[in-house]
Amino acid sequence: MKMKEVVKRCRQFTRPFRVDDGSKFRLKDFDPDDTLWLKSEDKDRAKEALVMGVEALAQLQDMLYAHDRWAMLLIFQAMDAAGKDGAIKHVMSGVNPQGCQVFSFKSPSAEDLDHDYLWRCMKCLPNRGHIGIFNRSYYEETLVVRVHPEYLAKQKLPPKLITKNIWKERFQDIRSFERYLTRNGIIVRKFFLNVSRKEQKRRFLERIDNPEKNWKFSSSDAQERAHWDEYMDAYQDMIRNTATEESPWYIIPANNKWFSRIAVASTLIESLADLKLSYPEVGPDKLKELAAAKRALARGK
Ligand code: ATP
Ligand code: MG
Repeated sequence: MKMKEVVKRCRQFTRPFRVDDGSKFRLKDFDPDDTLWLKSEDKDRAKEALVMGVEALAQLQDMLYAHDRWAMLLIFQAMDAAGKDGAIKHVMSGVNPQGCQVFSFKSPSAEDLDHDYLWRCMKCLPNRGHIGIFNRSYYEETLVVRVHPEYLAKQKLPPKLITKNIWKERFQDIRSFERYLTRNGIIVRKFFLNVSRKEQKRRFLERIDNPEKNWKFSSSDAQERAHWDEYMDAYQDMIRNTATEESPWYIIPANNKWFSRIAVASTLIESLADLKLSYPEVGPDKLKELAAAKRALARGK
């Protein structure tokens, strides 16, 4: 299939989930079970389509790398067991590892806490020509830190700065930061993998019952479930305040992993294709150099 056709198809999978003006965003308008027009019988065909998508992605990434001007930052946020790791693994499976960097942000270290909260993330921003992936990110500063105020207390902020406006201020700072990145050629795309509470429970039980998945289960994840509604409020407020035209959120239905992977891959393909990249053209001097090298090679053994 031609790239143009692939991109056209991808748009059908991205449009319904894109939020680029957060003002009217309501999480309950997005169904975690949504698979658009695809039914579970289409699952195998969908997996084949993903393979094709991954090939297209590899081509686009190769051009991004060769062009060496733009970078792409992908941010993944979700409740536990929503499938962040699997989505990252599958979607990036065909791309050249040299042009891709993945960073996971867990509880901050003592050194992290000795700095402003963007510090540890700024050190991991993608190089030009690269795709950078944040598995969790500075957005945790408006999620887990909001739900558990004891984390905020550990951040060594001057007490005077901790006011009731702190979340609004963080949203403002994050919006400015992302605008700064965009203006520097780093395209930001943000994914919320939207899993339902019921499906999360099913996946946790599977992790407990299946010995091969035991390692994935942590009882603290299950404890966080008790704060589900507070997390959903925090996610909604975060998306309302940080979804912009240049760095939109994608609310990816995540109850069906085969579907969420297609939706994520499609977003990435579309975003890279929109850069209208091409391989750098070489000038007359380089062409002369190539011709001379070809002649020399032909003459030799
Ligand atoms: P998985 O559980 O699938 O391996 P994960 O992303 O949940 O992946 P964990 O090892 O559970 O990885 O660690 C992530 C934990 O770190 C999450 O509970 C998250 O809320 C927490 N965390 C991330 N950033 C911060 C932060 N800035 N402050 C406090 N906690 C944070
Ligand atoms: Mg976890």
